[in-house]
Amino acid sequence: MKNVDIKNFTIEELEGFLQGLGKETYRAKQIFKWIYQKDVNSFEEMTNLSRDFREDLAARTWISTLAPEVVEVSADGTRKFLFRLADGSAIESVLIPDEGRNTLCVSSQVGCAMGCGFCLTGSFGLQRNLSCAEIVNQVCAVRQTAEIRNIVFMGMGEPLANLENVIRAVKILICPDGLQFSNRRVTVSTAGLLPEMALMGKRVTVNLAVSLNATTDAQRDQLMPINRKYPLKALMDACRTFPLPSRRMITFEYVLIKDVNDSLDDAKRFVKLIHEIPSKVNLIPFNEYEGCSFKGPGQDSIDRFHSYLLGKHITVITRSSRGADISAACGQLRGKIEGQKRASRESLDTDLPIDHNLLR
Ligand code: SAH
Ligand code: SF4
Repeated sequence: MKNVDIKNFTIEELEGFLQGLGKETYRAKQIFKWIYQKDVNSFEEMTNLSRDFREDLAARTWISTLAPEVVEVSADGTRKFLFRLADGSAIESVLIPDEGRNTLCVSSQVGCAMGCGFCLTGSFGLQRNLSCAEIVNQVCAVRQTAEIRNIVFMGMGEPLANLENVIRAVKILICPDGLQFSNRRVTVSTAGLLPEMALMGKRVTVNLAVSLNATTDAQRDQLMPINRKYPLKALMDACRTFPLPSRRMITFEYVLIKDVNDSLDDAKRFVKLIHEIPSKVNLIPFNEYEGCSFKGPGQDSIDRFHSYLLGKHITVITRSSRGADISAACGQLRGKIEGQKRASRESLDTDLPIDHNLLR
């Protein structure tokens, strides 16, 4: 039965699998190099393996691939790839060009269960986790079209809610026999799932981005239901102890929403919150989408927030809304989730829906 997809294995797992077949463990390195460095997708072409071994592998396993069904190109050069998965669901990845240092934003779930009130992906709820292969295959497919320098887990989904497969995928991304990214060039972004954050820190060395988005518990409880389970103090403590690659900083993401969290007082509280955590800040002006009740901030409040942080010697970047014309900007990914209705969204002064399974 060909139910084993080699792309779901880290190199250690492949070694274990091959050992079970009575094969030498160094064969795992050879297979990884064929797949991830030479883009070979059939065992037939792996000419440094014996014919019998290749036939045995082909009988027991397969090598999955993804090809984009649609590629949209933004006026600013951002490219959005829509991938159709075997079960018919769809995910999106976004390639953001930057003077030869392209960043690929990958998805980790179909939809998301976290219910953040400002996020289009979240408004569809969670359909399912992506497999490790489905995550890695986004990179393999886009790499055919452009060189990728950085990988960010900032597409659809909450990566830490799919911890095992995200860790597997990160291991393949940074594996010297795999996709060969430096761990300094891979960033996992989270809404703040604290136990999973600590677990990830123990198991793999990778950059961390935390979507802060609010500076008081009252405000964050409303915008990001996960805060009711893991409030700001616990989140900031977890950030302080997170083991990063050497000399790296945590990235705090802050979506600026008009008249919600974009005041000077918010900026002042923000600086106090991240005080003493080696960090840099990404300000993301809220990207509007059809049916959303929030508004993007005015340029004056973006500038005011940005300069206040700068004045406090914080490294801050205001992320321009790359790809907004093709709905590829932050929070605009939906993967054309078919047959799914958006959960009805309540306004800020009522409770947002919470997935209680997730918050248990
Ligand atoms: N689930 C993870 C990663 C995916 S979301 C997380 O929340 O961190 C990636 C980023 O997009 C997050 O920082 C999130 O706050 C931001 N975002 C979501 N919706 C947005 C919107 N409509 N406009 C701007 N940024 C948004
Ligand atoms: Fe999920 Fe992140 Fe969107 Fe929140 S912001 S709903 S965690 S994808």
